[in-house]
Amino acid sequence: MRLENWANAQNQAIATAKNMAGEATIYEAPPWFWSDQYDVNIQIVGHPGGGDEIVRGDVASGRFTTLSIRDGEVVGGIAVNSARDMAVLRRLVASRKAIRRSDLENPEFELKRSLAS
Ligand SMILES: Cc1cc2nc3c(=O)[nH]c(=O)nc-3n(C[C@H](O)[C@H](O)[C@H](O)COP(=O)(O)OP(=O)(O)OC[C@H]3O[C@@H](n4cnc5c(N)ncnc54)[C@H](O)[C@@H]3O)c2cc1C
Repeated sequence: MRLENWANAQNQAIATAKNMAGEATIYEAPPWFWSDQYDVNIQIVGHPGGGDEIVRGDVASGRFTTLSIRDGEVVGGIAVNSARDMAVLRRLVASRKAIRRSDLENPEFELKRSLAS
């Protein structure tokens, strides 16, 4: 997949250089992208269009997170002015952990608890 963003340009280059230097490295980080558009920080991980969408937070407030769920896994997400959620989402997507959808739909459920085994 062709990914045109800073994180991919940097991390793919790091993996390439390691392989060139003899350290066998697989580049498998989920796609992650951020952009600041005026006062809005947008971060996207994985494949947000790849499953059923759950919205956490208040879209009207301009601070919210969406998660894309497929086959019991979080396969992508979008964080708008929610960098803390993205830190968790990136780990969640990379881990391919089985999640309980009802937890993620519960606004009282702290997202980082989904990382606990
Ligand atoms: C308008 C715009 C907005 C963007 N916004 C975002 C964003 O918000 N977030 C994000 O993550 N990504 C964003 N991107 C994408 C991101 O900038 C690129 O994916 C990233 O910079 C690619 O890095 P790179 O090192 O591969 O290439 P580049 O950053 O393009 O670097 C290539 C370098 O090689 C040099 N070069 C080219 N040919 C030669 C040559 N023959 N000899 C010597 N030097 C040469 C060029 O001058 C350049 O300095 C944006 C891109 C654009 C165009």
